[in-house]
Amino acid sequence: MNPACLYIVATPIGNLADISERAVQILQKVDLIAVEDTRHSGKLLQHIGVATPMTALHEHNESRKVEQLIERLSTGESIALISDAGTPLISDPGYQLVKAALAAEIKVSPIPGASALVAALSVSGLPSDAFIFEGFLPNKSAGRLKKLGMLADESRTLIFYEAPHRIVACLQDMQQVFGAERKAVVARELTKTFETIKNDSLGNLLVWIEADANQQRGEFVLLIQGKEKEPSTVDTEAEFILETLMQELPLKQASQLAAKITGIKKNTLYQIGLNKKQ
Ligand code: SAM
Repeated sequence: MNPACLYIVATPIGNLADISERAVQILQKVDLIAVEDTRHSGKLLQHIGVATPMTALHEHNESRKVEQLIERLSTGESIALISDAGTPLISDPGYQLVKAALAAEIKVSPIPGASALVAALSVSGLPSDAFIFEGFLPNKSAGRLKKLGMLADESRTLIFYEAPHRIVACLQDMQQVFGAERKAVVARELTKTFETIKNDSLGNLLVWIEADANQQRGEFVLLIQGKEKEPSTVDTEAEFILETLMQELPLKQASQLAAKITGIKKNTLYQIGLNKKQ
C-alpha cells in the first residue's frame, strides 16, 4: 500500500499562537508543503521552525500543479497543503487536489484548526445548530442583490466572508434584502489586535460602520440571523407537534421542545398552547 498521505493542514487566521502542535509536527515531517503564496507562508514556517521545501499552488495554477503533486504522492512522498490563513479549501484552493488524490486512492488526512467562519459563529450569539456558509458574495451590487434575494427566506444562520472595500456596500444590500430589523453580526479581525464582534440589527450595524472608517478595515465575517417563521405561518404540522408534546409534558416544556423542532419562537408556541387549553 502507498504510505503517502496528503495532509490538509489548518493554519492560524491571525494569531500565530493558534497553530496546533500536530500541525507543526506534520509540516516538519512531510516531504513538501504546497502553499498559496511562498512569501506569506515562508514567514509562518520560519516562525514555527519548519524548513520543509515549499511549492506554490494557487487558484491560477491549481489544475496544472495537481498533476505534479499527485505524481509525487504516487511515488510514496507525503505532502501537506496549507493556505494563507485558516483551513484550506474553505474559500481557498485545494479542492481539485483533494479530489484528484482521492481518485488516485491516496490517503487524505485533516489536521484541523482555525477557520474564520466557525470562530465567528461560535461567538455570534446567533443560532448555531443549523447554518449555511456562502463564502464571498458577488463583487457587484446587482449580482450580490440577486444572490441575497435567493437567501431572503432562509431560516438557518447565514455566514459570509467579505473584503474591507466592499463591507459597507454589502451591508447596504443586506439591509435592502433582509430588512433593517434583521439581527446580524460583524466579526472583524478575529484573533488579532483589533478584534471586534458587534451584534445588532442590520440597520444599526450599518449606521455604526458608516460612521467609523476604522471599523471598515481588516478582515470580516458577516453573519445574518435566519428568517423567523411568522406566527401566522405556524403550520398544521407545528400545531400537531405541539399538541402531541402537550399530551405528555407541561405546556412550558412542550413549547420549548416544539420550538427546537420547528424553529418557531417558543413564546409563540406557548401562546398557541394556552389558547388550545382554554
Ligand atoms: N480559509 C480561510 C478560513 O478557513 O477561514 C478563509 C480564506 S478566505 C480567502 C479569507 C477571508 O476569510 C477574509 O477575506 C475574511 O472574510 C475571512 N477571514 C479570514 N481571517 C479572518 C479573521 N481573522 N477575522 C475575520 N475574518 C477573517
